[in-house]
Amino acid sequence: MQLTPIGSELALKWSNGEETFIPLETLRKRCPCASCQGETDVLGAVHRPPQKPYGPGAFQMVQYSLVGGYGFQPRWADGHGTGIYSWDYLRRLAA
Ligand SMILES: [Zn+2]
Repeated sequence: MQLTPIGSELALKWSNGEETFIPLETLRKRCPCASCQGETDVLGAVHRPPQKPYGPGAFQMVQYSLVGGYGFQPRWADGHGTGIYSWDYLRRLAA
């Protein structure tokens, strides 16, 4: 698994050699953290926080770290960086 930000996209190279590209804007809009996607209560209802407008730099990735074999965690230029994207989730985003 390799990933490289290229321009406004994230390039992913899977272990089978397949390559996919995900626009950073899509990545940010689908940030899986609780403050972006809401939390699910015991009855399965999703409580979404009010959609905040994205500030400058929201779709610019300034750095990222790999989360031990599980996925990766990008940090965005507007300071957000709590979302951890699992490889499975990235595959679904790329599909
Ligand atoms: Zn988030």
